[in-house]
Amino acid sequence: MEVFRNGSLKKFNTFNVDEKAKVLVEIDRVSDLFTFLTKENQKDKMLVLGGGSNILFTKSYEGIIISLKNKGIKLIDEDENNILVEISSGESWNDFVVWAVENNFGGVENLSLIPGNVGAAPIQNIGAYGVELKDVFYSCKGIMLDTLNEFEFTKSDCEFNYRSSIFKSTLKNKTIITSVKLNLTKSKHNFNVDYKELKENLLDTELTIKNISDQVIQIRKSKLPDPKIFGNCGSFFKNPIINISRHESLINKFPDIPFFKIDNNNYKISAAWLIDQSDFKNKKVKNVGVYSNQPLVIINHGNAKGKDILDFAKEIKETVIGNFDIELEEEVLIL
Ligand SMILES: Cc1cc2nc3c(=O)[nH]c(=O)nc-3n(C[C@H](O)[C@H](O)[C@H](O)COP(=O)(O)OP(=O)(O)OC[C@H]3O[C@@H](n4cnc5c(N)ncnc54)[C@H](O)[C@@H]3O)c2cc1C
Repeated sequence: MEVFRNGSLKKFNTFNVDEKAKVLVEIDRVSDLFTFLTKENQKDKMLVLGGGSNILFTKSYEGIIISLKNKGIKLIDEDENNILVEISSGESWNDFVVWAVENNFGGVENLSLIPGNVGAAPIQNIGAYGVELKDVFYSCKGIMLDTLNEFEFTKSDCEFNYRSSIFKSTLKNKTIITSVKLNLTKSKHNFNVDYKELKENLLDTELTIKNISDQVIQIRKSKLPDPKIFGNCGSFFKNPIINISRHESLINKFPDIPFFKIDNNNYKISAAWLIDQSDFKNKKVKNVGVYSNQPLVIINHGNAKGKDILDFAKEIKETVIGNFDIELEEEVLIL
């Protein structure tokens, strides 16, 4: 366990924003969490930090940031076709996916190359290319930050939704997830290649876990900026969901608007298209702009401050409301 006071958070967030934390504590073992979470420390406000790839710091954090670095992948159960694995929260999500792909375990190949740690994956029910964490999720273990009671939540306890879960609503900032259990397939894999670009790229290729993962990586690299080059948090906003009557009136006005039918009542609209049509592609304010290949990604061109990024995001929101009467909701946690 290491405690840093008043240190920079620049290396702890993928927007590369240089804000400070009153206290940052790096913890390698769950047992050390109990040592650290004394009554005295619990008086401070707290934030659990993974890879910092879904957080925008707009000011110093006047509290305790817990960076959980516990490692390990354990086989819990298996039968002929499936395995149940428990992954410690401090593992990198992508390292875990690489491990699964190398072992030919199916289920997370579409989620290749998503930054961040395993412990954060349930928070917003990470998703990409037609697959969400909930599709393989079995349970997660953790500790309630106020009572220090331990819990194990099942899939239904977690109330997963599109880029959301109970950890973003009722239990926001109230828990620390210490490990996640996932169900993976050993055989009879159910590949998901419904996503248009993925399907097209795999047309002449044998469907294997490795080939799907490779294609996902290739598509992601062509579309998303590397945070080491341009600080970013991936999609800044969620794709808005609208009902059928709102959808009909939008399509009448904007026939080119890309959408995805969720069910008979609801449609998901492309936030990237709304931003693109609002002329943000070539805009740059105080070293902040959108990424040329994907306008849903806001990037730090240099030494932008968190506040500059937030102001830019607000300008996008206001313009999109003005143009389309749709309010974009942030996917990124703003602090
Ligand atoms: C280039 C790029 C591409 C991305 N692509 C995708 C994508 O395709 N799909 C997608 O869903 N996301 C994507 N993201 C967003 C991000 O990678 C995910 O949300 C990821 O799960 C965040 O993990 P993290 O460890 O960095 O979390 P952090 O940013 O550190 O934290 C995010 C939230 O989780 C909480 N948290 C973190 N760890 C714990 C824990 N152990 N217990 C309790 N709470 C915790 C934090 O308090 C915070 O509220 C992308 C980001 C980038 C930079």
